[in-house]
Formats: sequence, structure tokens, C-alpha cells
Amino acid sequence: MDYLPAESRYETMRYNRVGASGVRLPAISLGLWHNFGDVDVFQNGRTIARRAFDLGITHFDLANNYGPSPGSAEENFGALMKKDFHPFRDEMIISSKAGYLMWPGPYGEWGSRKYLVASCDQSLRRMGLQYVDIFYSHRFDPDTPLEETMGALDFIVRSGRALYAGISSYDAQQTAKAAAILRGLGTPCLIHQPKYNMFDRWIENGLTNTLEKEKIGCIVFSPLAQGLLTNKYLNGIPEDSRAAKHTSLDPDSITHDKVDKVKKLNDIARARRQSLAQMAVAWTLRDKVVTSSLIGASKVAHVEEAVAALNNTTFSAAEMSAIEAALR
Ligand code: NDP
Repeated sequence: MDYLPAESRYETMRYNRVGASGVRLPAISLGLWHNFGDVDVFQNGRTIARRAFDLGITHFDLANNYGPSPGSAEENFGALMKKDFHPFRDEMIISSKAGYLMWPGPYGEWGSRKYLVASCDQSLRRMGLQYVDIFYSHRFDPDTPLEETMGALDFIVRSGRALYAGISSYDAQQTAKAAAILRGLGTPCLIHQPKYNMFDRWIENGLTNTLEKEKIGCIVFSPLAQGLLTNKYLNGIPEDSRAAKHTSLDPDSITHDKVDKVKKLNDIARARRQSLAQMAVAWTLRDKVVTSSLIGASKVAHVEEAVAALNNTTFSAAEMSAIEAALR
């Protein structure tokens, strides 16, 4: 049976303009870093992606190395495009990135033109796409001239491989420099993708000012601190959790002190009639500089819960100071 998306899909989602561009992103976007690799159950990822699209999530974020194994999330997403989403390509914003280790030898990571262009071509082949909507430099490369990395992004856009260029995890200074180079080349920087959540607030220290000044959009990743900012770890480490898999979330980082903070935050969320996951997502969206909160999900219910966070994204002064106190 062909997939027919919900007719109601655009009724409730909020779409925010990305910087000064013509394009808008859903306030909640879905990332495929985990749970879509060849170690995962394809049908589970398929159900998650379909439900996301049904709820108005038009943006799916990938990278060359997502899996595991590296590349397999893009391959699985390619299968989803073929099976389910092909008729809806023009309703979707699909992104990919290159920057981290993808293949052996001197051309398989960082920021050279050689690596970025080859990696973009590989991503397009894996996903069976003619173009991605956004292509990112995944990390700043201290050993490659920024002119070369940005020149590669400009080439990727001009050659039709991507519609827009983005950067990820660049600091404020690197961002200002990258934006100036891209502007000079005639391919403005559309968007920045930094990590941002209640436990990691580095972007408040200069980056958000730069993004506002440069009129660049901001999509924040790991708004739930990989699941820590939910009720999941309140009573230990569940077997089916990311921390138990010993991948990107180190179980040793879930200290008593962290769990104490999470418990306090959980009480504040409850008083707002939200789950902690919902409050954590809403919190990342409270400043209009943030265009979209980029979540991950291992279950359909995670997507539904995050989208329902949009019912309450305002915080009273008392709630804000209670959160600050809980995080101290
Ligand atoms: P989150 O912080 O949203 O963590 C998602 C994980 O939290 C889920 O996989 C699930 O893990 C758990 N979770 C989600 N909702 C709930 C809930 N309601 N209750 C309990 N647990 C929940 O984001 P990610 O760290 O997954 O990152 C999101 C995306 O950001 C990535 O897919 C990727 O696209 C992007 N990203 C970009 C990076 C970059 O360098 N640019 C780096 C990292 C991510 P569990 O398995 O435990 O159920």
C-alpha cells in the first residue's frame, strides 16, 4: 500500500523563516544520526519518518557518516524516499554534511574541496537524490584555508548538488569569517547547526549575536542532550536507551549531580503541564534566533511528544529563574 501522508500535515506545525532567506523550516526537525542505520530495524525508522511528515516535519537532517555503519542512514533514507516520500520531494528539506572521518586516506575527512565535493556526490548516490536542500561543512578545519572550504560549498551549490550552504559547530569568529567569504562568493550562508540544550549553552556566548547580525538561521542539535533531558534516566539507565548502547552518550556522564538537576527540571516541567522532553525542546525555541530544534527519536512517541511541545513555548520570568536555579 502506497504511503499517503495525512492531509492535516500543515495545520498545526509552526514554520520559521531561516535567517533572511526565502525558506522556512518547521520548528521541530528530525535528525537521522541514530536509529536509522543498518544495525537498526528499518520498519521502525520508516514509521518514525512517516509520522514526522504527517505532523508537518518537513525537514530531515543527515550526514555522510550517520549509521552505524557510516553511510547506512543515508542508504536507508534513500530507500524511504523511493518507497514512501518520492512524490513529496518538493515538500521536503533534506540536508547532509561532510567533515568527520568517512573513508581512509588523506581525503576522507575535514574541509578540503577534494573531500567535500566527493562526499556530497557519495551522499547523493546513497540517497538516490539529484540534490540536497542544504549541504553543510560539518566542522571547522584549522588546517585548510577557510576560503577553500567555503569555495567548495559555493561550488556544490552552483553545480546544482545543493540549494543552500550551511556550517556546523563553527564558533562565532569562524562563523563571521565564513559568512563574509560566502557572501563575497554570492552564495550566502543559510544556516548554522550548533549543539544547544539546557546543559550546553555555549552558543549564548557570542554565536547567537553573530547569527542575528549576519541574518543566518540556526538549527540546534541534541536539544534533549541525547535523552538526558527527559524522564528516561531518572531511575538508572534503561536497557534500550542510547546510554546503554555505549555509543555517543557516555553512561559515566550521567552523574548523581546531573540526575538531581534533571529531577528539579522535571518538577518545573510538570508545573507547566509539560513533560521534561517538551520543556527542553520549548526552552531551545524561546529565543527567536533559533529557527528549529533538531530532535532525534527511537520511537514514534518521541516525535509526537516533541511536536506537542509547541503548545507551550513561552516561559514566565519565574519559570526562567527556576530553571536557572535548577541548572546551577
Ligand atoms: P536529542 O537530544 O533530541 O536526543 C534524541 C534521543 O533522546 C532519542 O534518540 C531517544 O534516545 C531520546 N528521546 C527522545 N525523545 C524522548 C522522550 N520523549 N522520552 C525519552 N527519551 C527520548 O537529539 P540527538 O542527539 O539524537 O540529535 C538530533 C539530531 O541532531 C541528529 O539526528 C543529527 O541530525 C543532529 N546532530 C548533529 C550534529 C552535528 O555535529 N551537526 C551532532 C549530533 C547530532 P533513546 O535511544 O535513548 O530512546
